[in-house]
Amino acid sequence: MNSLVPTTTHPDAADPLAAFRQEFHLPPGPDGQPCAYFCGNSLGLMPKAARAAVEQEFESWERLGVEGHFQAPSFWMHFHDTLTEATARLVGALPLEVVVMNNLTVNLHLLLVSFYRPTGSRYKILMEGGAFPSDQYAIESQARLHGLDPAEAIVELVPRPGEHTLRTEDIEAKIAELGDSLATVLIGGVNYYTGQAFDMAAIARAGHAVGAYVGFDLAHAAGNLELHLHDWDVDFACWCTYKYLNSGPGGTSGVFVHERFANRPDLVRLAGWWGHDASVRFQMKKGFRPMAGAAGWQLSNAQIFPMAIHRASLEIVDRAGGMAALRRKSEQLTARLESLIHGLGLPADKLEIITPADPTQRGCQLSVLVHERGRELFDFLAAQGIIADWREPNVIRLAPVPLYNSFEDVERVGAALTQWVNERMGE
Ligand SMILES: *Cc1c(COP(=O)(O)O)cnc(C)c1O
Repeated sequence: MNSLVPTTTHPDAADPLAAFRQEFHLPPGPDGQPCAYFCGNSLGLMPKAARAAVEQEFESWERLGVEGHFQAPSFWMHFHDTLTEATARLVGALPLEVVVMNNLTVNLHLLLVSFYRPTGSRYKILMEGGAFPSDQYAIESQARLHGLDPAEAIVELVPRPGEHTLRTEDIEAKIAELGDSLATVLIGGVNYYTGQAFDMAAIARAGHAVGAYVGFDLAHAAGNLELHLHDWDVDFACWCTYKYLNSGPGGTSGVFVHERFANRPDLVRLAGWWGHDASVRFQMKKGFRPMAGAAGWQLSNAQIFPMAIHRASLEIVDRAGGMAALRRKSEQLTARLESLIHGLGLPADKLEIITPADPTQRGCQLSVLVHERGRELFDFLAAQGIIADWREPNVIRLAPVPLYNSFEDVERVGAALTQWVNERMGE
């Protein structure tokens, strides 16, 4: 690969995480060389360890059959428990507060069943306008489940005219204005489209001040930001593991429920045998008795294959030094990408970054609004082996992720953009 700056001064040489790139499969670009992959916000790359992790479970199944539930190395009966400590570290939670299960939208529903309990006067749910469609549909259908008209129950936050992202003070003001009519706040920790990261502690505080539950969809935040869900006093959260957590397409999902609900068997929930008190689960008796903590929201026995991949992925995050170490590099990668885009010198009516410039208000992703010929630019990047992500109507999302993206990847984008501007913009 051709280096764009001399190796001696190359930031990749000084990057303590540089070696982790070797632990992932980088798909080849059109020239057969590894692509520059900026799509970890959509599907994280495959860790080389994933294949062996799954192979081990095949091996147990092949050799042990049902006994794999109780025998080494698999112990499927307790498999999900082996994810708990690493998951708690990942999101800043107590082990009691997290569980890995199901898929993201399923978990959103399970949590809303417990934490969106509209009454005659307190029935509204606050979300971001233009949230990820699955979240919109989930919330709409939850309103209908309670016999409510979604148009009346759902309140959407929208940016001020001429702005692309939300201001914390406006979110707080809207929560205060809704007051006792507000049952629940459910916002993405990082907005999938703009890349804006929200001040979750401030939103939790504002929601609690009016007596509402506050939850976050962390699909774009888990594995991207340092999270402190317990200290931020968030009530509930869930996330997928196939984006920044590299746990495979359709992979499993994580759930957080704050400690204060750990021993609340009275909370309405949809129940299944895996959420039942584990000490008596196999007595197969009538009468659901939830386990303490987030584990009490489980329904089904564990999905061993996706969880095996997830365990291997979480192990990589821990070995890299956890989210604090990843975030340090992430901020540098994104700042460099931002400065290369600004260096193009294009006016905002041609190309603008809609992600906040303040690093505390974003994760790794930059969303670039291309006012003209955006799709053409996206295809131009792809032809150069730069895998970005296209969102209608005209946004290119670029997510440099610290585990496998290099500074050289970012320079490749800068060079390609410069070439596009020089060759195409004048036409
Ligand atoms: C990726 C994503 C989803 C996807 O939901 P699945 O149930 O995993 O298919 C949902 N919500 C948000 C905000 C996302 O970013």
